Amino acid sequence: MVSDAQAQRSIRLVIFGRQGAGKGTQAVELAKHYSIPHISTGDMLRAAVRDGTEFGLKAKEIMDRGELVSDDVMLGMVAERLSLPDAANGWILDGFPRTTQQAEDLRSLLGDAGIDLAIDLNVPEDVVVKRIASRRVCEKCGTNYAAPDINIPTVPCTVEGCGGQAVQRADDTEEAVRKRLALYESQTAPLLDWYHGQGLLVIVDGVGAPTEVQAELVGVIDAAV
Ligand code: ADP
Repeated sequence: MVSDAQAQRSIRLVIFGRQGAGKGTQAVELAKHYSIPHISTGDMLRAAVRDGTEFGLKAKEIMDRGELVSDDVMLGMVAERLSLPDAANGWILDGFPRTTQQAEDLRSLLGDAGIDLAIDLNVPEDVVVKRIASRRVCEKCGTNYAAPDINIPTVPCTVEGCGGQAVQRADDTEEAVRKRLALYESQTAPLLDWYHGQGLLVIVDGVGAPTEVQAELVGVIDAAV
């Protein structure tokens, strides 16, 4: 149950982590725990791809190559999403900012209020590579699953009423994953120092059972915000 204190508290979080660190899974749970929206730029882009808009088609080409969508486009998308009423009392941003330019854009957008906390969900590269090989994502609702074996192509979605199948993401091919991990090191990892310099960064160990990682996350957020 959400207490009054939780309901009134505004929490603005940014979560970082390598591809496959469990960022999306943990962010969904944190959003539920704090009653704030989970804003995932990857999910928003994949929704545009599913809708088959002209923008979605262009985004798909970029994503399937493992490259980044332009900072301008991302800022427009995020600014619009943050202006919706459900984001008035906080949010958890997943996948943005991803470049120094995007971090500066976010700072300008938010003004004095800024963010409350940046979380680095830390999982080493060799661990995430293995995880991504078995990652399956529901085609209908976007829920993530781990296939029991990397050779099992689909997993039935267990979300009530969904009935979808979880499949490998088009950008989870080995080549695209390598490119995304390299981009993470060169473009996104420097942002961790940027937030650390502002006294806003906490590092949480993301290796371990999802429920343990979640408890650790809630602990550091409650202590800091
Ligand atoms: P992952 O973290 O596994 O790469 P995401 O779901 O966060 O997955 O993003 C998938 C793809 O969407 C990225 O590889 C990139 O092409 C695009 N994308 C998402 N967020 C951004 C962003 N902030 N800036 C640029 N491109 C983005």
